[in-house]
Amino acid sequence: MSLITISPGHYGIGTGARDIIDEVREARKVTNRIVEILKSEKIGVTKIEDNTSRTQSQNLNYLISRHNGTTRKVDVSIHFNASGERLNSAKGTEVLYLSDSNKNLAEKISKAISSASGLRNRGAKKRTDLAFLNRTLKPAILIEVCFVDSVTDVNLYQRYFEVICKAIANQLINYVLDGQSRPEEGENGLSLIANNGKINSAISSPTLIDVLNKVLKDQNSVKEIIEKGVSQKAISKEWLNKLNNKTLTTADLLGLSVLIVQRTIK
Ligand SMILES: [Zn+2]
Repeated sequence: MSLITISPGHYGIGTGARDIIDEVREARKVTNRIVEILKSEKIGVTKIEDNTSRTQSQNLNYLISRHNGTTRKVDVSIHFNASGERLNSAKGTEVLYLSDSNKNLAEKISKAISSASGLRNRGAKKRTDLAFLNRTLKPAILIEVCFVDSVTDVNLYQRYFEVICKAIANQLINYVLDGQSRPEEGENGLSLIANNGKINSAISSPTLIDVLNKVLKDQNSVKEIIEKGVSQKAISKEWLNKLNNKTLTTADLLGLSVLIVQRTIK
């Protein structure tokens, strides 16, 4: 199922802001890279790109009706900003939203882009005058990655392109999964909870993290642990179903392990 619909703004190279870089060219690059990252993380995503419109209003109608025709939890529009004059100084990144319920997501994405790249964090900005935010029907945000006419911004954007795209993708994944289990990459079948990084940081030994990760990646050894627990009646056999349904989380497994050990030493 597609969870995210994303589009670069405007409708052709040169139809957006232009100075050191071209907004539309860069917005398309950023969108394409985010889509690749989301797909590699097995997150359903729909990309919309307008190559047919002739005017800005045609373009907005096109993007909005296409967005509204898709299944998704969030609508994302990628743009670049302009101040109107060439500057050496930093301007920064900002994320626009309309509904107050989307302010938190906008703030998180702006902060994540800033932390990843060093672009100044201009933060979340409420805008009531943008068609994309007004007329898309799901929670919507419009990301202004940086300013096309700030030398400092463009340097940071070009140098940190990859981490900026990753930061946006990660925030979107956290948003659409909203604490649900997040499928681990690869074919091992074991799900890891969305905030798995918190488990890693809660474990004080890097060696223990490595060893645990090896076990967690081996579906058979996880299955053996659960089966042993079920046969000792330390845990319910529902947990085997959870493993097979790929809804077992890393935290579940750690908790179950305690119950199994407790039964063993009794
Ligand atoms: Zn724009």
